[in-house]
Amino acid sequence: MAEASLTAEQRQRYARHLALAEIGPAGQRRLLRSSVLIVGVGALGSPVALYLAAAGVGTIGLADHDHVRLSNLQRQVIHSVAGLNRSKVDGAARTLGALNPDVKVDAIEATVDEHNAMELLRKPLVHGSIFRIEGQVTVFVPGRGCYRCLYPEPPPAGAIEESEQAGVLATLPGIIGTIQAAETIKQITRAGDPLVNRVLLHDTMAMTFREVRYRRNSGCPTCGDRPSITSLADSHAAVGAEEGRR
Ligand SMILES: [Zn+2]
Repeated sequence: MAEASLTAEQRQRYARHLALAEIGPAGQRRLLRSSVLIVGVGALGSPVALYLAAAGVGTIGLADHDHVRLSNLQRQVIHSVAGLNRSKVDGAARTLGALNPDVKVDAIEATVDEHNAMELLRKPLVHGSIFRIEGQVTVFVPGRGCYRCLYPEPPPAGAIEESEQAGVLATLPGIIGTIQAAETIKQITRAGDPLVNRVLLHDTMAMTFREVRYRRNSGCPTCGDRPSITSLADSHAAVGAEEGRR
């Protein structure tokens, strides 16, 4: 009876989830009712979007202002030659629709920045970043620390521009983005031990993962006991910067 609200087709599609004690019918229904916003449909956003659509996340928002360039295709696996010079969110929305008709996709051709991100800050944020052959992932949950608790200083001037010129191994965003997707599924289904107050650091060439713990800083200017930053226009925080050095 627990599967009663799933259609026969959904019971087939999600059979391997239904068989998992950690997900099961209750977890699958949570996924189908959930909504996730993906900020940036590039290297990291590609595997995140593909896996969350495959997993049956009911509503996926895709936010990106950019168009697909040939140099993106080396690692941004949701895009293809057919989408060159076209909107990233429109192409990605078509791909997700073909993958899973259960998923409603909202294509948002815009950048999430200091002008519109503040309203997102009360939601869990699964943050990933990559640089050359290294990447990192963590999950920020309101009340348990934020990006500023982990990195008190904004990136140095020019760091984002510099990182855009740097190389990146094709598979690196696949590794980091897939971990982001896994953490998102865990947040939605409340399964497992979330990557909260821990940042997972990966080096592809050494093929190592190590974990660094961090805590909410009560003096944090953003989420501390007496925050001094209440609008992102004050902070110049790099929200969702996905190919950035930290
Ligand atoms: Zn903080």
